[in-house]
Amino acid sequence: MNGNAIKLTDKIVWSAFLLVSFFLYFSGIVGLYTFSRKKVFKRYRNIILVYHEICKQGAISKYAVSKENFEKQMDYIKRHFSAVSLDTILETNEGKPNVATDAVAITFDDGFKDNFLNAYPVLKKYQLRATIFLISGWIVHKKDMLNLEEINRMEKDGIDFGSHTVNHRMLSSLDGNAANDEICCSKTELEALLKKEMCYFAYPYGKKRHFTEEVKDKVKQAGYKAAFTTENREIDTHSDRFELGRFCIQDYPLYAFKTRVSGIFEIKFVFAIRKCVKRR
Ligand SMILES: [Zn+2]
Repeated sequence: MNGNAIKLTDKIVWSAFLLVSFFLYFSGIVGLYTFSRKKVFKRYRNIILVYHEICKQGAISKYAVSKENFEKQMDYIKRHFSAVSLDTILETNEGKPNVATDAVAITFDDGFKDNFLNAYPVLKKYQLRATIFLISGWIVHKKDMLNLEEINRMEKDGIDFGSHTVNHRMLSSLDGNAANDEICCSKTELEALLKKEMCYFAYPYGKKRHFTEEVKDKVKQAGYKAAFTTENREIDTHSDRFELGRFCIQDYPLYAFKTRVSGIFEIKFVFAIRKCVKRR
């Protein structure tokens, strides 16, 4: 969830990211890397993307994506990835062999109304599956969030739903009982509203510091089958089922999106450099 104005440090990181992506993409490095990864090394990616708001015009917050860029990104996904449900992408985690293609699952956090107004028509146009993680306490109380009618309409077209707590509180800052309420009550409330089992959970804010091992245990005990973070990690047989990574997508122009999902930033030495920069 991010309704805050974009901070100066975010703008600097954003500009640096665009500059590096521009160089990597237009120099042909991304294309060469993707070609050799797929054709020479036969290495395919299984990734989950996470979106938040999809706006009619330009992005209004750090994680908002314009409808125009979102549509370009979905068109690219449709042509270059196998777009699958969370159930399917998690088969990789169970050790089922990967087919010879990159696979992606699309998710949204928070359940903004603009997911229905702006993202859903695009998903329908490209026949893409997606999962929206809902904040159960906000569905009937906040007008800029999805309502039950919109949720039901999307569900009929194959959009899945998961839980994102009751009030979107940072679980690592809560005591055991309060965290348990957020995790369990959202499951029971959403199941009563949608008349469907909620199998998946997404941690609010989603970084490692935003949940604890105790919180993870509570998610398991509540009966969820898997839980998702916003740590940039691929899904493989080693992935912890209650700490599955997702790639947070921002309002990237297409060249930056292609660079981001190519996997070039996850090459081991690049990953190490990024970790060092983050620590500073
Ligand atoms: Zn959230």
